[in-house]
Amino acid sequence: MVVITKTDATPGQIDAIVNRIEGVGLKAQVSTGEQRTVIGVIGDKTLLGDIPLESMSGVERTMPITAPYKLASRQFRDESTVIAVNGTKIGGRKLTVMAGPCAVESTEQIVTIAHLVKKAGAGFIRGGAFKPRTGPYSFQGFGLEALKMLVTAKEETGLGIVTEVLTPNEVELVGDYTDIFQLGTRNMTNFYLLREVGRAKKPVILKRGMASTIEEWLLAAEYILSEGNPDVILCERGIRTFETHTRNTLDLNAVPAIHELSHLPIIVDPSHGTGIRSLVCDMTKASVAAGADGLLLEVHHDPDHSMTGDGAQSLFPEQFETLIKELKPIAIAVGREI
Ligand code: PEP
Ligand code: MN
Repeated sequence: MVVITKTDATPGQIDAIVNRIEGVGLKAQVSTGEQRTVIGVIGDKTLLGDIPLESMSGVERTMPITAPYKLASRQFRDESTVIAVNGTKIGGRKLTVMAGPCAVESTEQIVTIAHLVKKAGAGFIRGGAFKPRTGPYSFQGFGLEALKMLVTAKEETGLGIVTEVLTPNEVELVGDYTDIFQLGTRNMTNFYLLREVGRAKKPVILKRGMASTIEEWLLAAEYILSEGNPDVILCERGIRTFETHTRNTLDLNAVPAIHELSHLPIIVDPSHGTGIRSLVCDMTKASVAAGADGLLLEVHHDPDHSMTGDGAQSLFPEQFETLIKELKPIAIAVGREI
């Protein structure tokens, strides 16, 4: 259930509503919008007894949330969530571009790529320090050293950092370096990890599980939100289907579907969504046309020598620069800018 407060509800009235909810052992999640405050009530509503919340001053109405995910649903929050991070806003009119190599390979590599993607218009450098590889013998990332290299790239360019965290016990460490946590497709249902980043104070990119439905994905987001972290960014990165030509099938249906179902921003990763460099630019354009709030793209200046297998899907810096220019009229056509 959500409590929708009046537009002129005072902070004192809102506190009283929260106290009433928490006083009976329920959890209250306060979401402050531009127009009004909405309070999510989590737990067994019968604990509220016979006195309805509607009778409290400052309350306009209460509303049940029928979706299995609550805090993630648009029923809970009608206004789209906008996340402020490193001087940018994710989910606003301007699209967020996050770009960089699959993995951080050296200071020179990450700093070089950071300068190139910044020049082309990116706001964030991406790069894995801890890599979730399908096989145990593949390069697993340089870990802490790579986190430090990302910080050097940030200091040199001002770009925010996006990097993956793999386990609950590394959330604190990765959080000391990154601006945004990335949770990868293989970890979308790692509920301990979801809860741990839910307790962190930094935004989280939650990639869609490669075999997860949209509902399961939103329920994974709910784990993070229910721990108190409101800053979840969903990322469509392709799902497993019977198609073998592409690495994954980029499900762009998910973009408008998520906008209908949820207030959370959604970005698209056409690099993993296709796995094929020659398809990435067209699918990026399609992502923007479909209403994506941002893009996560692999870019490498020397993809043939990439240490992960993802060189084949990485754009060359020049391609990336041209792509960003070509996205401008598409963004404008759908009421956005880049
Ligand atoms: C990545 O972004 O490099 C990555 C491993 O992504 P995913 O979890 O989508 O496979
Ligand atoms: Mn990758």
